[in-house]
Amino acid sequence: MATKKNTVSWPPAPRPNPRTTSPEDRVRPLHRWQVAEAQERQLLRHHQSANEQRIARIAEANTADVDAAVKAARKAYDNVWSKMPAAERAKYIYRIARLLQEKARQFAVVESMDGGKAIRESRDVDVPLAAAHFFYYAGWADKLGYAFPGKTPSALGVAGQIIPWNFPLLMAAWKIAPALACGNTVVLKPAETTPLTSLLLAELIQEAELPDGVVNIITGAGATGAALVNHPGIDKIAFTGSTGVGKLIQKSIAGTGKSPRSNSAAKRPTSSSPTPPSTRPSKASSTASTSTRATCAAPAAASSWRKACTTKWSASSSTACARSSLAIPLDKNTDIGAINSKEQLGTINKYLKVGVADGAEMYQPACDLPSKGFWCRPTLFLNVAQSARIAQEEIFGPVLAVQTFRTVDEVIQKANNTPYGLSAGVWTDKGSKIFNLTSKLRAGVIWANTYNKFDPTSPFGGYKESGYGREGGVHGLGAYLNLN
Ligand code: ADP
Repeated sequence: MATKKNTVSWPPAPRPNPRTTSPEDRVRPLHRWQVAEAQERQLLRHHQSANEQRIARIAEANTADVDAAVKAARKAYDNVWSKMPAAERAKYIYRIARLLQEKARQFAVVESMDGGKAIRESRDVDVPLAAAHFFYYAGWADKLGYAFPGKTPSALGVAGQIIPWNFPLLMAAWKIAPALACGNTVVLKPAETTPLTSLLLAELIQEAELPDGVVNIITGAGATGAALVNHPGIDKIAFTGSTGVGKLIQKSIAGTGKSPRSNSAAKRPTSSSPTPPSTRPSKASSTASTSTRATCAAPAAASSWRKACTTKWSASSSTACARSSLAIPLDKNTDIGAINSKEQLGTINKYLKVGVADGAEMYQPACDLPSKGFWCRPTLFLNVAQSARIAQEEIFGPVLAVQTFRTVDEVIQKANNTPYGLSAGVWTDKGSKIFNLTSKLRAGVIWANTYNKFDPTSPFGGYKESGYGREGGVHGLGAYLNLN
């Protein structure tokens, strides 16, 4: 097939001028990015988490909109994308990656305004990692045969993708990049509370001149997601979100032939084992539990400390909590931004009460909270029983529940004694202890003497109720391919 001429020029994108445009002006035109025109569009008011100021009006896609988006994706798959040489597909994906790098600043600002995440995280983690995923998977597009030797990989068709609010842009990249590299077209639904960077990405994808219908973004809440899951034109469903909804989706697609991929909530243990290097683990646990307001597909939400170190680390952790700067997300000195939504803040506050009622000791720094927006002080729980709900359930807030242990066997038992197993962290000065613990912890990803390090080449996914399937790396490709 003849090589398509690249007609895209690459002038630098103009920077938005925050002094002349209101936040709403800057994001309102997002509606036009929806590839499927909404039929009977209900517009939801959308607010910033940090101050409840209206930022946009977002369409709630109904079943007709979902149908139009799936049909657009099917047409693009049949007529263009599945016929295009893989090396050509790769060029489009590279183009997305480069444009994302170029507009990184705009994406970081919108991400933080939308979901309340501290700009330091969206600027230094979410956006660069999202671009890295597009770069990484662009490289695989024409090498799929090498990824799975002895197999003949082929695309699945149209992938339906549903993502949550904790890493809105990054989750979109995690899902869209491998799907496109494998030759699929996609219909993606972002979370109702954080749709803006997905919509911004849709505009960027148009700018990259991807053929119409290859990427479709639909906005809306659970009903829109359910309509996508139940649409007969979908070949695959990829979902990241709560365990409850993940189970619902599995039931809906059982027996339909739609390929599932699910990554759900989790409780992530960190254990600081017998001879940790310093007080770093306690600080790292505190940081991990407060980073992304502890919403990173589950933070270092449960931490086990060696009994003898507890006093020292309690002091160190509470100091780390007290020193965390809780402030407006767009301030680059902010450690902890706002909680994503009123509902989520309600859930966190409920767990704080449950933790105290279950007998744990709660510590919070005395700091003023803004009068508007959704805010939670960094919170430390000591003396947490294994059976306590704050040790067993996902809080999704800046809350660290601490347990103690005396032996390595005890910490392994405690860390594994939850329904979840997304990731874990081990802190020790002995390599042998790292190998021992990491081979016995039932978690998808385990960090040693560090925490929350992500890389597109490395697969990520959970054990037990934290889901199945992997995203990232070669493993992330398999989910979007028929391998015969
Ligand atoms: P979280 O607690 O992380 O918000 P949810 O599972 O409630 O997790 O939401 C994750 C994503 O799933 C969101 O995009 C949401 O709109 C969507 N969703 C919620 N309910 C359903 C459903 N019944 N079917 C499909 N998608 C759903």
